[in-house]
This record gives sequence, C-alpha cells and structure tokens, in this order.
Amino acid sequence: MNASATLVRPIGQDALLERIAGAVEAGRLPQSLLVHGPEGVGKRAVALWTAAAIQCPSESKPCGTCQSCKLSGRLGHPDVHLHFPMPRPKRASSRAKLREAIEAQRQERLVRLREDAEVQLDEGEATGLYVAAVENIRHQASRRPAMGPRAVFIVHDADLMVPQSSSPEAANAFLKLLEEPPEFAYIILTSSRPDALLPTIRSRTAPLRVAPIPEALVRQHLVDACGATTEEASYAARRSGGAVGRARALWESGASNAAEAGDRLLGAALSGSARRRFVAAGEYSARGARATLQPALEELRARLRDVLADASGAGAEVSDRAALDTLVQGRALAPRSVIGALDAVEEALAGASRNLNPQSTVSVLLGDLQRAFTETSP
Ligand SMILES: [Zn+2]
Repeated sequence: MNASATLVRPIGQDALLERIAGAVEAGRLPQSLLVHGPEGVGKRAVALWTAAAIQCPSESKPCGTCQSCKLSGRLGHPDVHLHFPMPRPKRASSRAKLREAIEAQRQERLVRLREDAEVQLDEGEATGLYVAAVENIRHQASRRPAMGPRAVFIVHDADLMVPQSSSPEAANAFLKLLEEPPEFAYIILTSSRPDALLPTIRSRTAPLRVAPIPEALVRQHLVDACGATTEEASYAARRSGGAVGRARALWESGASNAAEAGDRLLGAALSGSARRRFVAAGEYSARGARATLQPALEELRARLRDVLADASGAGAEVSDRAALDTLVQGRALAPRSVIGALDAVEEALAGASRNLNPQSTVSVLLGDLQRAFTETSP
C-alpha cells in the first residue's frame, strides 16, 4: 500500500479534526499539544494532520491540495519534524557521532513511513527517545523555518523519553524547549501513557484526546484500505477496541487464527506431553510478541475462563461448548487448577506486552500450565 501521495485524514475523527482546524484557522491553537489516546488509535496521524493544518497557507486548513499540504502528506515538509522512539544506536565515539547516528536511523525510518504510513517500526525491539535525539530536536528548533513562518515538531510516544532504568536527562533537556519555545515553533507530543510523562511536561501541553472509533469504521477501513476479507476484518475489528492501528496489526499477524492458536497451546498443555509442548513453543518466533503471541494468549484466556465456568458448575455460560469438550475430552479439572492456569496466562500476557521473546514465553507458559493441571488433580 502506498498512501504517500496525499495527506492522510484520520478516519472516524471528524469532530476532533474540525476542532483542530477551527483553532488553527482562528490562530488560537496552543503552541504545545499533547495528543493522547489508546495505542493504535491514530495519534500520529492526527499529529501529522494537525501539522499540515498549521503549515497550510489556504483558508480552509489543511486544504490537502497546496504544495505545503502535499509535502506534509509525504512526510517531506522541511518544517515538519517527526521524531519517534528508536533502538539505541551502537556505541559512537562522540556525542556528535551519536547524534548523527540517531538522525540517520530516523531518516531511514521516514523512508519506510513514506511508503506505508501505518508501518510498524522496530516491532519487538526496545526503543527510546534518547538524549541525543532530544538534542537533535532542540538543534532543529534553534533554526528558523525553511519554507514558511512556522515549524512543527512532533514527538511520537513521548513517554518513552524516560526509558526505564535511565536518567530523566532526555526529558529534562526536552523540558527546556517546552519552557521557552521559539515563537515560530509548535510542539506536538503523542502518548498512549500520558501518566508516564513528567508532570512538568504534561502541565505545559494542552491535551487533545483521540478517542476509539466505532467497530464498523475499523472493519470498513481494513477491507477498503488494507484488502482484508470481510470475515478477517470483522474478527480484527471486534478485538481492536476501536483502534485502527491495533486492528491492522491484528489482521497482519493473522489473528483470525488466534483462537486456533490459543487452543493449540491449551491442547499441548493438557496433553502432558513434553514433546507437544516443545513443538507448540516452536511455532513462535523469537521476536514480535505483541503482534503474534498476544492475540493467541487472549483467546487462550477466554477459553480457560470457559473451562473455569464449566468446572465451577456454571456450564451454561460457556460460549463454545463443542470446542471446549473436544479440548478437555472429559477430563475433570479442579477450579483451583484452572485459576492457576489463568494466572500463568496473565503472566505470559504481561511478558508479551513487554515484547519478551515469544518462544521462551510460550515455553515457560506451557510448563506452568502443565504443572497447574497436574499438581492439583486428584
Ligand atoms: Zn494546504
């Protein structure tokens, strides 16, 4: 898919976009914004659209047709600077070299974003906005805009400016820019975890919430823009929580197979066979946990809740009786076993959300499940 030629209008966000356009046209858009909302809901697209509106010289902003809008649309506007978390570059011999390395990484990713505005960058890797990246932003903000009177700095996933186990140096360096922005500069932060931002950063930005959109719109988008089948789109949309990006990631990872994958995990754990557990773990790669493993684990959790309902005498609440019977095959599972199994799944889900190695996460999980099912059985 190549959406690079035109400015992307975030879908399902008409009311928000109208408010933003109105504020820009009236010249009362705050200089520092915090675009927040759930992961995958389209915060980066809203930020880029806002930047285009700020830059567009037409009366109706963004017009989408002027040179400025076209440049914004293909991420090529000289005065729209998009920054995002990236892996830490390999050791550099000096601070200046490190800054160069980070900028080179950013340019390489911008090329990919131009090809596909929704591409998942650095999936499965630890990323951050390091102090050298913030220095680059401050350097860019120290120069006057090249094309027009304004410059826009977008810092995506800004909460990653304080990566765990690191000093808040990057955030403090950024704070200096927020405290005294040049009069030409607009700063747009995005975050799905605004609580993780320094309070001093939060208090200096005007919040803009990007809300989840109706499932039907997500489904339509997957069919129209991504080429999903209606069935695949329905499945991913239902599990997306109204976040288009999440729906697309689910669809791309073949999440319609997630239920099957969840059942394979449970089947392997129930079989008591070390070989089947080994084979089941081998189906997962060493990377990309959130995209591949998380949907399977969510399905597994749903299935175990059915097992628990059944074991606790609430069998009427089981959603798919036939599938459950096939899996359990008449085995009596104590509620305590199933609760232990659910705990193990929660732990694996936490690991998947931190992007731990899926293969070893599954391997540990299957061992835990097997123990939960056997230890407390009569
Ligand atoms: Zn325009």
